[in-house]
Amino acid sequence: MALSKEEIYTMLDNPLVQQVLLEILDDDINGFDVLMVLIDLVEATDDEISRHLNLKLNTVRKLLYKLYDARLVNYDREKDEESNWYTYTWKPALDKLPEVVKRKAQDMLKKLREQLVIEEGNMFFYCPKCEIKYIFEEAMDYGFRCPQCDGILKEYDNKRDIKILKDQIMFLEEELQLNKPFFSTEADKSKNRKNTNVIA
Ligand SMILES: [Zn+2]
Repeated sequence: MALSKEEIYTMLDNPLVQQVLLEILDDDINGFDVLMVLIDLVEATDDEISRHLNLKLNTVRKLLYKLYDARLVNYDREKDEESNWYTYTWKPALDKLPEVVKRKAQDMLKKLREQLVIEEGNMFFYCPKCEIKYIFEEAMDYGFRCPQCDGILKEYDNKRDIKILKDQIMFLEEELQLNKPFFSTEADKSKNRKNTNVIA
């Protein structure tokens, strides 16, 4: 089933889809622009995308490979007989986006739940200078000194971390429960917006 441009835009507007894409793109927000240009142009070489967005060719390529790894773009390769160089023409392949989002979101949910168990079941210490936190046992092994800077480790209250984790878990659970999660109606959208705020 091929998706219309409008359906694709609706999907990309969904906060869960955006969160999953950011995860795929290692938080590089330029990846959204790369995807948008591909959707607009239907197909483009990395060079064209780079000029369109005024982004370094290397950056564009890295982002395209990440999207390709997630099976969200495809390419055709053509050899120039004279120069022997290959030209890659990239295309969006977003029909699988709902599946990809669902699978990734389930992975994220699993990891967050595991993290919550750790957060709720342990005491933590942290180094205020390096901003790294350690489980009590680890901190004890280090003699309550930071292994990075040798500063004294302080007790750490992880209530806020637990709250953030719980909010994220709730957000993912709710999004995954919606029947048509990535083609949300107007009513869903206002609900999603509220959830985004919680996360931010
Ligand atoms: Zn430190």
